[in-house]
Amino acid sequence: MEIVVDDAAQHAELSALVRHVRRHVGKQAGLAIAHLTLHLASTSRASVSPDLPGVGLVKWNLSRAWQLPDDEFRSAVRDMHGKVITVMPSVMAALCDRLGPSSGVGPRLVVLSGEQFTPSLRERIQVTFDCPVTALYTLAEAGIVAHECGESGTYHVEETDAFVEVVGDRGDPLPPGGVGDIAVTPLVNRAMPLLRYVNGDKGAWVDGPCGCRRPGPRLRLLAARTQHALVAGPNGRGVRKIDLAKLCRQLDLSVSRIVQNSDEVVVEHHDSHPATDFQRTAIAAAVRSLMGADLTVRMLRTARERAAGAPAADPGQVLPAFLPSADIAAWAHDVLRRQGVLAAVLTGSALDPAAVSRFSDIDVTVVIDDDPCQERWYALAAAMNQHLATLRVNVTEVAGLVRAPLVTCRLLTERHPVMGTLEEAGVTWPSVQDLTAEARFWTQNAESVLWTRLTAADRQRTDPVRDAWLASRFCLDALRYRLLREGVRVTAARHVLQRAPEFGVPDATDIRHVFAVSREHRPPPTPGSPEADGFLRVALACVRWLGRSL
Ligand SMILES: [Zn+2]
Repeated sequence: MEIVVDDAAQHAELSALVRHVRRHVGKQAGLAIAHLTLHLASTSRASVSPDLPGVGLVKWNLSRAWQLPDDEFRSAVRDMHGKVITVMPSVMAALCDRLGPSSGVGPRLVVLSGEQFTPSLRERIQVTFDCPVTALYTLAEAGIVAHECGESGTYHVEETDAFVEVVGDRGDPLPPGGVGDIAVTPLVNRAMPLLRYVNGDKGAWVDGPCGCRRPGPRLRLLAARTQHALVAGPNGRGVRKIDLAKLCRQLDLSVSRIVQNSDEVVVEHHDSHPATDFQRTAIAAAVRSLMGADLTVRMLRTARERAAGAPAADPGQVLPAFLPSADIAAWAHDVLRRQGVLAAVLTGSALDPAAVSRFSDIDVTVVIDDDPCQERWYALAAAMNQHLATLRVNVTEVAGLVRAPLVTCRLLTERHPVMGTLEEAGVTWPSVQDLTAEARFWTQNAESVLWTRLTAADRQRTDPVRDAWLASRFCLDALRYRLLREGVRVTAARHVLQRAPEFGVPDATDIRHVFAVSREHRPPPTPGSPEADGFLRVALACVRWLGRSL
């Protein structure tokens, strides 16, 4: 089902969130709210609402920061210090698992929503983040339906946004204390009207006034939902498909079954590739939060029928960020060996999990002794591109590489071999003169592109993550040219950033920040803010620094 939400509904949801947060943290002017996700396909972005002055909102997709080593990941999450975090319980469980107790990150408040959760998760969050934890009862179709009361733990209905009933089997309204289905009629979202929408959540009305003195109806939510259980947990609590469905969708994982053997839980999935560390740790944490913190969780990939004619090493139509470079190389080797190819290599930031951004590609460079402008090479490149998302297939003869000195340096230093060797194919390291000539030409173009973008009239509407990525590309190539001309034969981003300060690059710290934002290792700034504008300025300064050295 596709959920359509109109502007009025989005605004109502945001207002209800801010009201709820202010009840806990007070009415101070400034409020920074960060929504954390592990959704691989989602985009990190920041915004300010004109109707809610002083409230900054950022959505931060943590799935790429998750690929960082533990110490760098902790340092990234410290960005949440002093902010209000809103998050799904299963994502929070994964985060607590990764950070361990006493993380040193002190958000002002954690707001859980979107799924039910156990009291033990609330305790773990308090231990990990040392901050208060509260909850909202939300439905994707209706927004915020009710908010948890800090006094009583019951849920006060957001009466202006939703009409709520507790109904029996025949849809009959139940009196206080009677446990039944929660039926929600959203009042704001006119783009998708729903009447008495029942999603399977159970609850009961609570009679009498609340300790917080807030009037209006309030609910007790029941966490014990056992129908359609994937597996029965201890204390009669089951894991239902819906408990994991949201997280699995975020992680791009198809879980078919969960099996419990004594103190081990096996999560079976039928994807075309093995689960990555990221998927494994996130699912394991979610299962433990539902079934018990002491359990060992293991992933098991079950067989799925392979499409007829697909090669054995077929990685399927998947994001290459998930695939180890060895798997892609094996697949590409299989495809290319029949084609009369001299050499082939993989390069690209998507091959380094800690360097991948949502714009990352994997390049396959295929060196041939033939004219690349022949129909069969176009067809081969198109067929490979179709097979693997964000793959770029470059077919070239050796003479073509001679005309592209920086590309040649990158191929020789960053390559993951697929077949043959570049040296045997006749590829040689370019001369400093050739690199310098190319760098001069490149610098002029880069300055002009950056200047045009920096002075564009519609800066407010641009995406700061994309700007940061663009800036990082220009910084990286400028640094590469400079280092290569100095005789330092490194081109991979990680090594280039390490060595650059030796050569007096301006704003080395700012450049690292540009890379961190472009890879979503840090939350993005608001479009049009000085920080967002700074990214392209940093790149322009870096390009000019190169230009002065040529
Ligand atoms: Zn209350």
